[in-house]
Amino acid sequence: MALVELYRLTGHDRYLELAARMIDQRGHGLLGEGAYGASYYQDGVPVRDAAELDGNCVRALYLAAGATDVYLETAEPELLEALVRQWEHTAATKTYLTGGVGCRRRTEAFGAPYELPPDHAFGETCAAVASVMWSWRLLLATGEARYADHIERIMFNALAAGVSLSGDRFSYVNPLQRRESAYESGDKAPFRKPWFDSACCPPNLMRLIASLGHYILTTDAGGIQLHQYAAGSVRAELDDGAVFAIDVVTDYPWSPVITIDVAEAPDRESELSLRIPAWCRAATVRVDDGPAVPARGEGGRLVLRRRWRPGSRVVLDLAMPPRLTWPDQRIDAVRGSVAIERGPLVYCLEDAGLPESVLLDEIGVRAGWPLRAVPRPDLLGGIIAVDAKVACRPGEPPPWPYGSQGRAGEAVSRRTSVTAVPYYAWDNRTRGRMRVWLPVQ
Ligand SMILES: [Zn+2]
Repeated sequence: MALVELYRLTGHDRYLELAARMIDQRGHGLLGEGAYGASYYQDGVPVRDAAELDGNCVRALYLAAGATDVYLETAEPELLEALVRQWEHTAATKTYLTGGVGCRRRTEAFGAPYELPPDHAFGETCAAVASVMWSWRLLLATGEARYADHIERIMFNALAAGVSLSGDRFSYVNPLQRRESAYESGDKAPFRKPWFDSACCPPNLMRLIASLGHYILTTDAGGIQLHQYAAGSVRAELDDGAVFAIDVVTDYPWSPVITIDVAEAPDRESELSLRIPAWCRAATVRVDDGPAVPARGEGGRLVLRRRWRPGSRVVLDLAMPPRLTWPDQRIDAVRGSVAIERGPLVYCLEDAGLPESVLLDEIGVRAGWPLRAVPRPDLLGGIIAVDAKVACRPGEPPPWPYGSQGRAGEAVSRRTSVTAVPYYAWDNRTRGRMRVWLPVQ
């Protein structure tokens, strides 16, 4: 990545050639086996031949991001094909609901496809940063909204969980479940700390947060492509020098409504391209005084093309009722469980938010039971919580936790209401249990 940037800055071919050479040489066993084998260093299979990412997550994702940078300058189709194949495989089989990656804790590495245990999730904060960097480059290479969707998921969940609400404690690992007792100490303990022996994650997170503005939109000769939704103003110069300036007003992701006011526009037809997130089932859009109409677009994008004038207004409504999300059955560790989501946010339950008589491990949910978004300005710095009806089976656990039939058919002992909070805000109260995936009863 750095060599390609240096090439862009100086125009000296030798930097790009060296970057390309490093990509070409990877995967031929030149680094040796080391302590963890060649795949740990992404030296087991050449980049263009690899079907999937393997080995240490952060190394693998940085290499993929660097290879994508090389593609962006060389336009070699074979390289892009390989990278897209690896990205699709990673998204489909090796990524947690939060957008985090990595479950082999000793080597901080990818596991086998669908090996995604929630309690032993590694999900290093640096890997979330690296995933954003790679997806951003593929977004630049292809323009496809799915990469921006992925960036959004990581930003609001895996990445945002990397720092405490107080801003001075960080997480190295980001599991989707914390059991009663922490099972590791040191850097890999499942709670935030002020600093680490291996202090890669805090500065990496700070660097990304400081550069968030660069991931919001892109421009070309045709207009503006809005990839992420955040309040702010931008005055963009299009490829032909025309100025397109917009003000975005929104409280996203709490509010589903995004208002875009045109401040300056090219003196010709131009495009405002809006991402419709894959999680949104009923987006609507209204332009100026027109009616709100379903916002449907090709490939996750709604492209509004017209002669814009200062004062034009677009209101996008990304309806976000709370929803239950099911995992693919191949993810054995969470089969039979569901997660709560609202908009781009993944939710979780913690001991800290439960009624006194309710234990987290006794809770189950059923499809169809109500979920309700509740503004809680008093909680965790101000959030939209999700109140959920859940089933409780209090009582002593059985002496032998296996039997001839499941418990799905048993009567629920008690129904109660609990408050789910955004995953990023977990571990800011007492250090108790937490879980994202809840068993279906
Ligand atoms: Zn790190």
